[in-house]
Amino acid sequence: MGKFADASARHTSECLRVDHLVQHDDRIFESIVIGAGQTGLAASYHLSRRGIDHVVLDADEAPGGAWQHRWDSLSMHDVHGVADLPDSTAPATDASTDRANEVVPAYFADYERRHDLPVVRPVRVDRVEPDPAPGSDLLVVHAGDRTWHTRTLVNATGTWTRPFVPHYPGVETFVGEQLHTVDIPGPQHFAGKRVLVVGGGASAVQFLGELAPVTDTLWVTRRPPVWRTGDFDPGAGLAAVTLVEERVRAGLPPASVVSVTGLMLRPQEQRAAELGAYERHPMFERIEPHGVRWADGRFEPVDVILWATGFRPAVSHLAPLDLTSPLGGIELLPVRGNVQGATTAARDRRVQLVGYGPSASTIGASRAGRQAALAVQRWLTTQPATRHTESA
Ligand code: FAD
Repeated sequence: MGKFADASARHTSECLRVDHLVQHDDRIFESIVIGAGQTGLAASYHLSRRGIDHVVLDADEAPGGAWQHRWDSLSMHDVHGVADLPDSTAPATDASTDRANEVVPAYFADYERRHDLPVVRPVRVDRVEPDPAPGSDLLVVHAGDRTWHTRTLVNATGTWTRPFVPHYPGVETFVGEQLHTVDIPGPQHFAGKRVLVVGGGASAVQFLGELAPVTDTLWVTRRPPVWRTGDFDPGAGLAAVTLVEERVRAGLPPASVVSVTGLMLRPQEQRAAELGAYERHPMFERIEPHGVRWADGRFEPVDVILWATGFRPAVSHLAPLDLTSPLGGIELLPVRGNVQGATTAARDRRVQLVGYGPSASTIGASRAGRQAALAVQRWLTTQPATRHTESA
C-alpha cells in the first residue's frame, strides 16, 4: 500500500516536472527512448551526458521496469545479480530478505531523480512508424491519441509484457490452474496442490526451490538441464553472450542470455534438492483434464501447471518499421572494431535496440545504453536534418 501511495505522489510531481516533454506538434526530439527499465535508464543517462535532447516513455505507473512486477517472495538474496547503472552502485544481492520488487524499483526511482532523467509515465507506445510527411526522415511514436516526432529511437521495452507459453495438445481440456512466471502469487498459494513446473531456466529452478518444501512438485524440461557448479565464470558468460549476439546478427530471434549460462543450485534450494525436486522428466506429449501423459502412456495427475517457459521481446509496436529479417528476428549491425555491443537495427539505422538479445540482462544493459547513445550521436552528426526537421 505504502509503495503505491509513494508511487502516485512521485508520479504526480514527475508529470508536472516533465510536462514540457509531453507532445507538442512543433517539437522534434533528437531521440526517444521507449521503456525505463535498466536498459532504458542506462541509455537515457548516456544520451543526457552527450546533450542529446530526448524523452523516455514508460508504460508503467511507477519506476522499476519489470522488477516492480516480480513476485513478493523473490528476495535480494534470490536474485542472480543486479548490475550497476552507469555512474551508480546497485543494491547488494547479499543475504538480505528484503523484497527485490521494492529494493530495485527504489534504486531506479532514486537514479531517475538523481540524474534528472526525462521519464514520462504512464505512456504505453502502440506503434512507431516513418513520418508520412513528404521528404521527412522522422519517426512518429504513437500512444493512444498522443504522438511524438523524433529523429532517432532507442527501444528498451524488455520482455516482461510478452510471456511465452508453448502449445501442447489438450491444453484447453485441463481443469486445473495454469500460471506463467508473471502470475506467481507466492508459495503458500500452492500448498496441498500438486504442481507441474515446466521449463529449464533459472526461474523454474527457483520456483522448485520455493515450492518443494511446501507441496508436491514435478519438473519437466525439453532438454536435460546443464548444471554449473561454483561461481559464475566470466569466460563462460562472455561465450554465452557471444552466442546470443551471433544469432541476432544473423537475423534469428534471440535466445535468452540467462538460459545459456547454465543452472546452479544455491543454498536456499538445497532442501528442495534433498526432496528430489530437481529430478527432471522429459516433456509430456499431451495435456488431459487432470494431468499430463507421455508418449509411452505414462500419466501423472497434477492440479497446477506452472509455465516457467520464458518470454519474447516486446517489439510488436515496431512492426510498421519493418525491421524483422526473413529468419524472424530483428537483425543488428556488428559494431566496428568491437566484437560485442551491437544495438543498431540493420534495416533502419535510426533505431537502436537495447535489452534485446545479447544485452537482455542487467549485466549488458549499461554497455548497450552507451553503444546506443553513441550510435544515436553518430546518426545525428552525420545525417543532415531534412527540411521537415529544420523548419520545426
Ligand atoms: P524491463 O525491466 O522489462 O523494462 C522494460 C520497460 O519498458 C518497463 O518499464 C515497461 O513498462 C516498458 N515498456 C514495455 N513496453 C512498452 C511500451 N510499448 N511502451 C512504453 N513502455 C513500455 N537479469 C539479471 O541480470 N539478474 C537477475 O537476477 C535477473 N532475474 C530475472 C528474473 C526473472 C523472473 C526474469 C523474467 C528475468 C530476470 N533477469 C535478470 C533478466 C531481466 O529481464 C533483465 O536483467 C532486465 O531486468 C531487463 O531490463 P530491461 O530494461 O531490458 O526491461
